[in-house]
Amino acid sequence: MAFVRFVLALFVLLAALPGRAATLPPLTVYFFDVGQGDAALIVSPSGKTVLIDGGPPEADDRLVPRVRQLVKGPLDLVILSHPHLDHLGGLGKVIQAVGVRRYMDPGFDHGSEAYRKLLDVVGKKAGQVMTPTPNPSSPETLLTIGLGEGATLTILWPRSPQDAFLSNTRSDVNANSIVAKLTYGNTAFLFLGDSEPETESFLLRKPIDFTSTVLKVGHHGGRYSSTAPFLAAVKPQAAVISCGAGNDYGHPTDEALERLGNVGARIFRTDRQGEVRAVSNGNTVTLTAEKGQRAPVVVNGQVRPGLVATGPMPSGRVVPAKGTLPARVDATPASGTLSSDGERYVSLKGSQVFHRDDCAALKRAKTQERTQYMNRTAAARERRPAKDCNP
Ligand SMILES: [Zn+2]
Ligand SMILES: [Zn+2]
Repeated sequence: MAFVRFVLALFVLLAALPGRAATLPPLTVYFFDVGQGDAALIVSPSGKTVLIDGGPPEADDRLVPRVRQLVKGPLDLVILSHPHLDHLGGLGKVIQAVGVRRYMDPGFDHGSEAYRKLLDVVGKKAGQVMTPTPNPSSPETLLTIGLGEGATLTILWPRSPQDAFLSNTRSDVNANSIVAKLTYGNTAFLFLGDSEPETESFLLRKPIDFTSTVLKVGHHGGRYSSTAPFLAAVKPQAAVISCGAGNDYGHPTDEALERLGNVGARIFRTDRQGEVRAVSNGNTVTLTAEKGQRAPVVVNGQVRPGLVATGPMPSGRVVPAKGTLPARVDATPASGTLSSDGERYVSLKGSQVFHRDDCAALKRAKTQERTQYMNRTAAARERRPAKDCNP
């Protein structure tokens, strides 16, 4: 009996030791080689799949079969970081080939033909179309998406209408890219899309733990993104740059590579190393490149498990006081294009119109198959307002 008690005590002691977290089942992130563009697939330990971006149009030939190889059944979520062609070009074909349950984009208006065509495909194939609008009942919390076994995707940006979209930047479409942090045990991945320096400085004012083991470098290693203060907050052990060999933009730039080197990140580039696979066991991340480098690189997770938000997210620009706590909030008016009243909109399957979610027509409807929109802009992109509730 004494022996049993001793063994039990030993277990309790071991469990309490820091850095001794048990090894978890694998979570894999594939950074595809799509040439000049972005496309990454998350496969969670429970088999949930999230595709972030779909490369340029010419990536179709390789991207579609590769996703088919890795994904059984429809993708659980497709995130378009922002509606630029080097991120959305291959998405339509992927969605047509494998299907998708939920689709999310920033909800930032962009009238390109390619984007409209993608939304046509999404409208037909996706069960739910959403934008990263904070939950109206708890607008000060970050939107999180559970991927099973403790893996969680937290959307850091955009947060319209709580925070207005960034404007007057070098590229407002880039600056309002979806920024998402995937956390798993002591490891984390940060996806930046084509975030601009304004995105980085805006986010740095929020009470967010940015620490991430692997960073999907913003804007293909462009000169302006990956600012030193932001990298100091992220502390990446490894950085993946998704770009095409000999691209016209000079990506990645020496400036970005130097700043990444200064924080000690091991750099991976899809233009030289092809597809990069990163496998997390909750404690370490093992990165393997398709070409160029034979031995896998193992980096240690340094992320404190728990919530990504270290406090409530007040809207507007948080101006830090002398210390580190946010003291004052300069509220910026919400963007006029989005519903600021927290209403949701719903369209019935096969219908050309959308309703307010409390419309009596929805209660009378025979079909339960419906698409929910998180704001009016998203609904109006695809459907007409219904005459009965005039949303
Ligand atoms: Zn891009
Ligand atoms: Zn872009």
